Amino acid sequence: MSRLLVRNIGELCTCDSERGDAPGVVKSAALIAEDGVLTYVGEERGLTRSLEVDTEIDVDGRSVIPGFVDAHTHIVWLGERSAEYAQRAAGVSYEQIALGDGGIATTVRATTAGTVDALTAAAAERARRMRSCGTTTVEVKSGYGIDTKSEVRQLEAASAVRALPGVPDIVTTYLPLHATPDGEHDKHVQSVIDTGIAEARDRATFIDVFCDPMAYSVDECERVLVAAQNQGMRAKVHAEQRSRNGGALLAARLGAVSADHLEHAEDGDLRSLAAASVVCVLLPGAALVLGGPPPPGRRALEAGATIAIATDCNPGTCFCESMPLMMSLAVATAGITPAQALVAATAGGAAALSLSDRGVLRTGKRCDVALLTTPHWMDCAYHMGGDVVGGTLVAGESTLR
Ligand SMILES: [Zn+2]
Repeated sequence: MSRLLVRNIGELCTCDSERGDAPGVVKSAALIAEDGVLTYVGEERGLTRSLEVDTEIDVDGRSVIPGFVDAHTHIVWLGERSAEYAQRAAGVSYEQIALGDGGIATTVRATTAGTVDALTAAAAERARRMRSCGTTTVEVKSGYGIDTKSEVRQLEAASAVRALPGVPDIVTTYLPLHATPDGEHDKHVQSVIDTGIAEARDRATFIDVFCDPMAYSVDECERVLVAAQNQGMRAKVHAEQRSRNGGALLAARLGAVSADHLEHAEDGDLRSLAAASVVCVLLPGAALVLGGPPPPGRRALEAGATIAIATDCNPGTCFCESMPLMMSLAVATAGITPAQALVAATAGGAAALSLSDRGVLRTGKRCDVALLTTPHWMDCAYHMGGDVVGGTLVAGESTLR
């Protein structure tokens, strides 16, 4: 057994609702983990003096929070789209670029041509940056292939990253309805149902669909999600991102784990999601880049829903690995408080991935934490773009700088 002690913590944010008001702060705190599992979370003066430890980390009065759980990313991609970024800044719309054979099609061509090794190397670089920003669990989607072989290579790359040092823990999601084949929707949807799901189900926990007028209809998404649920996969939906077309109600009807984006969701949609215990995943970076309405943070909370914050890290609409920056954007645009943002970026992310063993700091949970560079936890959001994370522990394993 290996015992780790983290002590001299100025503000320990547990994000545990049993510790009172969010984010459940304990001052002058310490935590102990044994073989990567928390066995003590509380005031330092409550510790046994004679305790023997294998590793001791003195954080010198700085703050400690749960590691971020980034529940929505697309980090397995090849190719380069910075020129498109500049085009959009000059006034060309996302839709115009997509219609001109640019946009996601560019990424699909480059990613489909890549080997598993090349995909793994590209994703690993992004995953390491995520961890250096405090992320200890990240969800990784496929979605930049159209044929099943390419999708499977992306899922294999995501799994290969999981085994590398210095990265977050990884959860995989099969996203077969994302990019669109030219004029062959029906054939593609049928092939996902006939063969894709069977190939993907041992390689991914979740299935996801892009329900959007430019991508796939509610009916197409429903057929694929139901087929996948029947084969044991759990559903997620990209919903109401650029217009309201029924993705949120589909997620509620099918009992999806999460509905993501939701910028155009109405209050009734959010109430339906809350009633069905579907987590609302806010992606404030993508919303800002695309220039539409902000994600519905306060509205979702008022509807009674659980919210999560994620980066949506992808080459088209949000090339960003930083969860602290997403918290800043959520506070600035989505009508939520810094405490609500921290809970959404940790416990909320874990809920959006159906992970009950992390996201809060409590005895019995994984020792997944971010060690901040500041005594004030709120700097995660308040110090916008700041270097606020000094290291992380994933199941007790450290990457301290
Ligand atoms: Zn996405």
